[in-house]
Amino acid sequence: MARQYYIAGNWKMNKNKAEALDLAKGLVEALKDGKNKYMIGVPYVYLDAVAQVVKGSNILLGAQDVASTGNGAHTGEVSCAMLKDIGCGCVILGHSERRHEIGESDELINKKVRKALNSGLEVDLCIGELLSEREAGEAEQVCAFQLSAGLAGVTAEQMKNVTIAYEPVWAIGTGKTATPEDAQAIHKFIRGYIAKLYNQEVADNVIIQYGGSMNQGNCEQLLAQPDIDGGLIGGASLKAETFVPICSVGC
Ligand code: PEP
Repeated sequence: MARQYYIAGNWKMNKNKAEALDLAKGLVEALKDGKNKYMIGVPYVYLDAVAQVVKGSNILLGAQDVASTGNGAHTGEVSCAMLKDIGCGCVILGHSERRHEIGESDELINKKVRKALNSGLEVDLCIGELLSEREAGEAEQVCAFQLSAGLAGVTAEQMKNVTIAYEPVWAIGTGKTATPEDAQAIHKFIRGYIAKLYNQEVADNVIIQYGGSMNQGNCEQLLAQPDIDGGLIGGASLKAETFVPICSVGC
């Protein structure tokens, strides 16, 4: 089953406006002949400006969060409709920094997932275990729970717009990467679990990214694994010179 590599950058809470525009312009130019799927997750306040830069390019504009409700009296929130209005096509949900720093529950993440999909946004749903959970041998159990909770009420048809990002929390921003073999083992488990939740066709088609200190030095080996279909990249996505080489794998 040939799945297209999907390389996404998560800029998190970094950059000022000029830097964001510079990076976006650099990526549009550098990736214009790229054969993979690309996305950048941009801070809310720069989305509109970056949208003008990536418009018409092969880079999908992503947000890093979205409200679980529609427009209305929800101070501080940003809706799916607002994101779509400015040209945003995707939203990263369930990132471990939102789960563990902000305290987002699986129930809230699921509401956001359903709202985003019902609004026509693609979803990049992050799952992954803490170090203590891995050491306790619970990595698969944690991923299974986060998948079934996060995808509750999502139809097989809607799964065409869902990407799963497996991000072991102990590997995010730490410089520690799962070995390609360990990452492959859990990606294979995730695909098998999606087959149980849906069916084999959905599982065969779903893109499963790896995230956690992916960089130019380790991306080829990780992406050579049969069930690793891309990457969600934090630190290395903040500069074109570190992100573009990852984006170029397989091209
Ligand atoms: C992330 O935040 O999704 C991530 C994988 O970060 P980093 O690449 O910096 O580990």
